[in-house]
Amino acid sequence: MNAQTPAPQPYAVELVALTKSYGPGKPAVDSINLRIASGSYCCLLGPSGCGKSTTLRMIAGHESVSTGDILLENRNITNLPAAARGTAMMFQSFALFPHLTALDNVAFSLKMKGVDKTTRQKQAADLLERVAMGHLAQRKPAELSGGQQQRVALARALITQPRVLLLDEPLSALDPFLRIQMRAELRRWQKELGLTFIHVTHSQEEAMALADTMVVMNHGVIEQMGSPHEIYNRPVSEFVARFMGGHNVLNTASGKISVRTDHMQLAPDESGLADSAGNRRAVITDIEYQGTYVLVGLQNPGERVSASATAELSVMVPEARFAQAPYALGQSVQLIWSPEAAHALAA
Ligand code: ADP
Ligand code: MG
Repeated sequence: MNAQTPAPQPYAVELVALTKSYGPGKPAVDSINLRIASGSYCCLLGPSGCGKSTTLRMIAGHESVSTGDILLENRNITNLPAAARGTAMMFQSFALFPHLTALDNVAFSLKMKGVDKTTRQKQAADLLERVAMGHLAQRKPAELSGGQQQRVALARALITQPRVLLLDEPLSALDPFLRIQMRAELRRWQKELGLTFIHVTHSQEEAMALADTMVVMNHGVIEQMGSPHEIYNRPVSEFVARFMGGHNVLNTASGKISVRTDHMQLAPDESGLADSAGNRRAVITDIEYQGTYVLVGLQNPGERVSASATAELSVMVPEARFAQAPYALGQSVQLIWSPEAAHALAA
């Protein structure tokens, strides 16, 4: 091995007991510990106000740290100014300067650093080539499609040669169609560039589509961290199961469990299987056709069923199965699941 080449750092970013208090009371970010692998796509996910942006802004150096440390490739950057950290930020709806060309948008931060015009324009042009935007370098943002604007924003963030790219809800202002296109493109660029991306979103669907590692936050703490597959299949808590969606949470004698809505089955309530097998009865309150499946909403039978009742449980019935044996509103059914489909949740 070449002695000149530093060994690759396994972690791009490490947060150690990182805390942010804006005032008295519970901190906005409460002593979180997190290690993000180099070259990975990490999504910070959670409901509004859970501390995602605060965490990202502390990593970026746009927000001071109350206590704890931030390491970037083993360097403690906790007290460094933003420009000296090796991070770059991409903002919501890209935040390009409308009056500047794509080239000048990309070159902007070099201009601020006092880099001469020829050098900065050359570097900006190279980066625009890299994101397949070289031919549109002289266009202004309004003359570019959403996808092209995103590439300019990416080039603008990359011009400082960051080790880690930070993205705060970059797709949330886009229409749904463009959002899905743009997230595929972000994922592709991340792999192609081999950089570490830390992407904040409140959308579990977006996080699952993008992330190598998902970090689910709630009230300033990390509830669960893992691959999308791990988190979807083994939510550790009721909060994670409900926030991810697609799960039913049930009370049992041995505590709360979660069962995926597509791992539960319905049966007409006449076979007498119910209580002996630990399965339950429920009453159908909603039937929604969703194309490949029918989503059946249910309530515990004890409660009075009314037209305005909201479903407590749901079961995804494949379209063909529903067509063979349809269910009706108000019908009593049994809920059936195999023991392997049930996961205990932390109390
Ligand atoms: P998220 O990005 O997950 O929606 P934030 O990190 O923006 O959440 O906010 C976390 C908590 O900190 C919220 O309760 C929010 O009101 C509070 N907060 C965020 N920024 C500030 C600020 N500059 N001053 C005071 N409180 C703030
Ligand atoms: Mg936010």
